[in-house]
Amino acid sequence: MTPNTDQSVVIIGAGHAGSSVAALLRQSGHTGHLTMVGDEQHLPYHRPPLSKKFDGPTVQQPLRPAEFYADNRIDLRTQSRAVAIRTADTTVVLADGTEIAYDTLVLATGSTPRPLPGTPEGTSSVVTLRTIDDADALNQSLGRGGDLAIVGGGYVGMEVAAVARSRDIRVTVIEREDRILARVASPELSTMLTDYHRERGTTVLTGRSVARLVADGADVTGVELDDGTVVGCRTVLVGIGAAPDEQLPRSAELEYDDGVITDEDGRTSDPHIFAIGDVARRPVKNHHGLRRLESIPAATEHAKRAAAAILGQEPDDHEVPWFWSDQFDLKLKIAGLTTPDARIITRRTPGKNAVAFYHVQPAGNVVAVEAVSAPSDFSTGKKLISNGSRVDVEALADPTIKLRDIVAQAG
Ligand SMILES: Cc1cc2nc3c(=O)[nH]c(=O)nc-3n(C[C@H](O)[C@H](O)[C@H](O)COP(=O)(O)OP(=O)(O)OC[C@H]3O[C@@H](n4cnc5c(N)ncnc54)[C@H](O)[C@@H]3O)c2cc1C
Repeated sequence: MTPNTDQSVVIIGAGHAGSSVAALLRQSGHTGHLTMVGDEQHLPYHRPPLSKKFDGPTVQQPLRPAEFYADNRIDLRTQSRAVAIRTADTTVVLADGTEIAYDTLVLATGSTPRPLPGTPEGTSSVVTLRTIDDADALNQSLGRGGDLAIVGGGYVGMEVAAVARSRDIRVTVIEREDRILARVASPELSTMLTDYHRERGTTVLTGRSVARLVADGADVTGVELDDGTVVGCRTVLVGIGAAPDEQLPRSAELEYDDGVITDEDGRTSDPHIFAIGDVARRPVKNHHGLRRLESIPAATEHAKRAAAAILGQEPDDHEVPWFWSDQFDLKLKIAGLTTPDARIITRRTPGKNAVAFYHVQPAGNVVAVEAVSAPSDFSTGKKLISNGSRVDVEALADPTIKLRDIVAQAG
């Protein structure tokens, strides 16, 4: 590969992926102009605390200190929204009319929460959660008192439910599918978490969808469900997933299908444009098709690979996709991707509130592990997934057999 370190790189999106690729480019010897454009007013910050610690100042955690950007000659422009990409003259256009030319462009615009269809214009206290400003709005609304209804039993919704319960707020989770986390977790993990939340006072309604929001003027007073019952509340958190913004990729005529289509290093259908993080749909090692992975480790890995590709360097090995979530005192860590044909092997840690669900394919190889307060299972599972090893499922289910012996015997 030919090193290519002095080109002008423009990054759109100052979140996890965007700021990682900027830092990695500099770390790896990029000397050219580096501009990062972000539409938020804050310096790039950690998003996971927004749903885990949204009730205090800990929510504001910058990814890097303010001086990092100047010290590394990264021209960070906050409160600047990119509105168009002109591929003909390789230029990005900002909302205020500024034009920035690029040799290489990196799209790292993340995704935007889906709104609840039919939410009346101007209804207060109906919030989604993606930004610090959203977390502040949620916190303020809860601070005014009243119950919380959460539409969508995904990770963000369940994390917020746990924090709200710890503040003694009455919480109802309304999930359309027949279990929470239906799209992303095994039935075993869904059941375990549902029980855990219910035991701590959360009402979890599954198989129920929202008919409409009930409001008194601008104030929301409840959520009416499809069976006519009304869940009374003063705040509604809508957590029904997030989708990338299509407008910029469409302006550049990039190949797009539920995300910008990229290769594993973030290359798009335009040779001058990369896309990384939540906005991209890409191949994942050992899995068919393309995936949009919405997690910090995935954004970081994609940023690393893109930085290497931009500089003409060899990328690191692939990392097994992983993700984490905190709910009450439970520390969840999930590695790999689930497949419909996998059998779930449950491994409990005796004497502790810890369990792991291993997803084992018919051939005996582990494709995913969901570890609940079980860090050794997480690291062992990740290793087994990475090596493609076949395991003895009887041994895996038996907590008296040590994990290291299972790994040693894996074929
Ligand atoms: C509440 C919450 C909790 C989470 N918890 C976890 C967790 O525990 N573990 C985990 O692994 N992952 C978690 N995630 C997911 C993780 O935060 C995302 O996968 C990650 O942030 C993706 O990085 P990104 O850079 O692609 O997008 P983002 O971090 O969202 O950054 C994109 C940035 O681009 C900006 N932008 C968009 N369009 C434009 C434009 N046209 N011009 C300029 N700027 C633009 C956006 O405003 C945003 O600042 C969580 C996400 C949320 C919302």
